[in-house]
Amino acid sequence: MHGTRILEEADRLMTVCNSCRYCEGLCAVFPAMEMRRSFSDGDLNYLANLCHGCGACYTDCQFSPPHEFNVNVPKTLAGARAESYAAYAWPRACSGMFARNGLAISIVTALSVAAFIFGFAAFNDRQLLLGIHTGPGAFYKLMPHNAMAALFGAAFLYAIIALVMGVRAFWRDIGEPIGMRADAGSIWQAIGDAGKLRYLDGGGVGCFNDGERPSDRRKAYHHLTFYGFILCFAATVVATLYHYLIAREAPYPWWDLPVVLGTLGGVGLLIGPAGLLAERWKRDPALVDQARTGMDVAFIAMLFLTSLTGMALLLLRDTAAMGPLLALHLGVVVSLFITMPYGKFVHGIYRFAALVRYAQERRMPGQGMQE
Ligand code: SF4
Ligand code: SF4
Repeated sequence: MHGTRILEEADRLMTVCNSCRYCEGLCAVFPAMEMRRSFSDGDLNYLANLCHGCGACYTDCQFSPPHEFNVNVPKTLAGARAESYAAYAWPRACSGMFARNGLAISIVTALSVAAFIFGFAAFNDRQLLLGIHTGPGAFYKLMPHNAMAALFGAAFLYAIIALVMGVRAFWRDIGEPIGMRADAGSIWQAIGDAGKLRYLDGGGVGCFNDGERPSDRRKAYHHLTFYGFILCFAATVVATLYHYLIAREAPYPWWDLPVVLGTLGGVGLLIGPAGLLAERWKRDPALVDQARTGMDVAFIAMLFLTSLTGMALLLLRDTAAMGPLLALHLGVVVSLFITMPYGKFVHGIYRFAALVRYAQERRMPGQGMQE
């Protein structure tokens, strides 16, 4: 017996696949499945997070609908994956709320924080809010740096604690026996596999979609999104180091490192999420877990809005629009942080943990697995 109906279905499919084994060369899910004779909830959540949703095993399967076996591995594992985000989330109550109203909660949070910053600045001095400010320290005329850092620090700290608690619960559930540690070689292997999105290639030909030739478009958009996010994060880190180590205040000139990193990352975060949304729109409904569309779209939309407001701020920072745009951008970023542990963002962390587990059991077969 499993905890949910989707896990029951995932168990049924993995049992069918374990007898068939036709897809064992497509990705990591099937070799990992073959190492098991039965599947606990943790095993199924592990396999679900190893799946990259390329669709190849649905297209190749001789037992997919309308066959009576009704085998649809990508859709079932997508459902199990989404349930796993809620199952391991901390605190649990927030995840259910977000799963039902992800996009609405993200937007309301972003607008509330933006309104707070806007109100904070207007309360202090309305002229400052709509004035033109240039040069180092211009952003902090609206809100002192310490107040801004406290707001972001609190949101970031909350996100980190919630994410660590979630991944800890996930790792314990998939990595029997409890307390098993990852080794450096497995982590290194997983970094390579995650960085290249190795298992989003449908066994070497690309992602599958109904009526289309397999292609690498989803992979390319995913890379733009992921590396765009990393570059934007790097820009924030460099700016923080500038501020505290060499007392250089934002905004920085166009040629300076935080702006260059942020601009490159921002371009990636505009094209990548827009492409992922377009690909999702065109996806064969048979491959998509429609019940979780809101959660997926919320995260992609918030990444896109983070970049859009950031790029608008960069272009218009020397005008009177700087104040409202800064408030809006900060609101979107804080909302992104607060909602991160409950939405699609966690798929990157859980998938990485699953890849570490996979690398580990390939290197040391039998360690920690249940019969
Ligand atoms: S998805 Fe279909 S073809 Fe592939 S292993 Fe499972 S049952 Fe066999
Ligand atoms: S990664 Fe692709 S081939 Fe592997 S289980 Fe998921 S959808 Fe199937």
